[in-house]
Amino acid sequence: MTKPLPRLPLAATRADTAATFEIGASAPRAGIGAILDVDLDAIVANWRLLSATAGGVPAAAVVKADAYGLGAAPVAAALARAGCAHFFVAHLEEAIALRAAVPGATVYVLHGLARGAEAAMRAHDLTPVLSTLDQIAAWHDEAERVGERLPAALHLDTGMTRLGLSEAEVETLAAEPTRLAGLDLNLVLSHLASAEEPENPSNERQRATFERLRARLPKAKASFANSSGVFLGAPWHFDLLRPGAALYGVAPRADAPNPLMSVVRLSARVLRLADLPAVVPVGYGGRFVTSRPTRIATVSVGYADGFLRALAGKANAGFAGVKLPIVGAVSMDMITVDVSALAEGALREGDFVDVIGGHADDIDRLARAAGTIGYEILTSLGARYQRRWISHLSAF
Ligand SMILES: *Cc1c(COP(=O)(O)O)cnc(C)c1O
Repeated sequence: MTKPLPRLPLAATRADTAATFEIGASAPRAGIGAILDVDLDAIVANWRLLSATAGGVPAAAVVKADAYGLGAAPVAAALARAGCAHFFVAHLEEAIALRAAVPGATVYVLHGLARGAEAAMRAHDLTPVLSTLDQIAAWHDEAERVGERLPAALHLDTGMTRLGLSEAEVETLAAEPTRLAGLDLNLVLSHLASAEEPENPSNERQRATFERLRARLPKAKASFANSSGVFLGAPWHFDLLRPGAALYGVAPRADAPNPLMSVVRLSARVLRLADLPAVVPVGYGGRFVTSRPTRIATVSVGYADGFLRALAGKANAGFAGVKLPIVGAVSMDMITVDVSALAEGALREGDFVDVIGGHADDIDRLARAAGTIGYEILTSLGARYQRRWISHLSAF
């Protein structure tokens, strides 16, 4: 049983964070279509497991895109209480919104220093992950202007070819070290392109390039491994792990059992139960036709809620330990589920059935069925749910 806990007002002093959130499994609100439960204790357990997998190397938490759709403020607050001291987001505005939830932690902005963002970076005590010489120059100028050393991280491009300083740019910095004057370089990082494929030779090529480039720069802590990178082994761990998806229960590898705890459970309300004879078309386009007497539940979740349309006919809802095939098209606000396998009277209109996690298919299975990755299942999760962040930890 989950202990109901009071609403936790976060950062009541800060106008720029409208962050209050509900901790505990309160009753479904009247008329709510679907409930998203996020298990904060499982996220903390996954964060600890990742660090333990890396022999105790500390783990940061990547909470960009609202912690992959699960709520950056409650997720980061729970991790900070557990001892997580480093958080990564993509955008400046995400960082500003996060700051109050993790007052003492280092908050890194992966997209770096946007033009004109210097004052906001300083005002909210954020650390830009600088990835161009222009950004370095702008942050250096700001440090001179205000007469303070400013915290900075550097992103090196070791072969992903997305963000980061090139080898030539690193050489420029090595030749002209005053470009980094005034900056407290507290982290050098790079990102793996194929970490979920342990046999891919690009992992070792990127690692060797990272070693070579960072040796040309002033001494600083290094961070390389994302979630899957943690499972590549000690040479990839460096000083700080940088997991996102694995914290939220996504499998780090497709070809191995998932060592992480499941975090997300989405359950949706049964709007109607219908007992149909054989040869009745169900849903848009009549794409599914009953082949025998069938009980169909119409359930209140659809592609507008991030339940992907591509999952039609390829996924299972679940109730009381029974997997229930989702049949017919996925509509904007509804799906139809064959619940014939349930005992008479077990499920009633108004009840909730699991549609992601819990008794339903898990994120990774849904991702495979939809031809995507667990990351996209999570970040597609919609805005219409009642969100509940569950924690049994007394800290809340
Ligand atoms: C998103 C991101 C991560 C986290 O990656 P996961 O695969 O979710 O663990 C780490 N580092 C950078 C630079 C990222 O953009």
